[in-house]
Amino acid sequence: MQVEFWGTRGSVAAPGPFTVRYGGNTSCVAVTLTDGTLLVLDAGTGIRRLGHALAARPPVTVHLFLSHCHWDHIQGFPFFAPAYCPNAHLSIYGYPAARQKIRKTMTDQMEGAYFPVDFSQLSAKIEFIDLWQDTLRLGTSRITLVETNHPGGGVGFRIQEGDRSLVYLTDNELGTAGNGRFTGFCHGATLLIHDAHYTPEEMETHRGWGHSSYQEVLALARAAEVQQVALFHHDPERTDDAIDAMVAACRAEMARRGDRFTCFAAAEGAVLSL
Ligand SMILES: [Zn+2]
Ligand SMILES: [Zn+2]
Repeated sequence: MQVEFWGTRGSVAAPGPFTVRYGGNTSCVAVTLTDGTLLVLDAGTGIRRLGHALAARPPVTVHLFLSHCHWDHIQGFPFFAPAYCPNAHLSIYGYPAARQKIRKTMTDQMEGAYFPVDFSQLSAKIEFIDLWQDTLRLGTSRITLVETNHPGGGVGFRIQEGDRSLVYLTDNELGTAGNGRFTGFCHGATLLIHDAHYTPEEMETHRGWGHSSYQEVLALARAAEVQQVALFHHDPERTDDAIDAMVAACRAEMARRGDRFTCFAAAEGAVLSL
């Protein structure tokens, strides 16, 4: 499968000279399976440019998985060009904690008070799918879910295709999760994309906000024996240089502990083949 980062920022878009290398757009990751099936993880502001890339090569069929409905994960949707294309087909998958609300949340954010075009005016064929089961099969993949530890709830996804696997776990507070459910869920993943919003020092004053420190992410990667870990959901205040420093701190700790996985910070525009 191929993984493309279209938005790596957390909380709010943060464009500007200090976020050029890692990007200023909020959460959006595109996953293309070997059979061509396209999965999109979250609809942060990064989905806008993905939409333009897709609109150039119709017909478009997109399976959009939402981790949860906080603004930084849905705000780009009204700017997603395929939603306006009559020959596009969008399936939007909602997370368990908001089964009844996903459609309402997505349509409400396009109400007149917030946005000039009503959801009902979108020309694409759009369906909402509630994730009742813990496992679903899509194209050549098997997708499993885990509930995240985040205010208001949410879900993480594991996309397994043959012996390759991607785990997408954002907006997840590992420190107060209180059990090892994430270790089993992530076990042996080819790539773990995880929320690393905070430094260990910042974490101390942000318990309960629903995010993790990079140190906690490394601990998970180590326990779950993943192959690669991508730090994700960068704090909007984190400059490119500060993210470089975070990665350097991770690599220093990994060298000290003899870790065998690799670690990098997710950068907008980066493409990986798993
Ligand atoms: Zn977020
Ligand atoms: Zn959130």
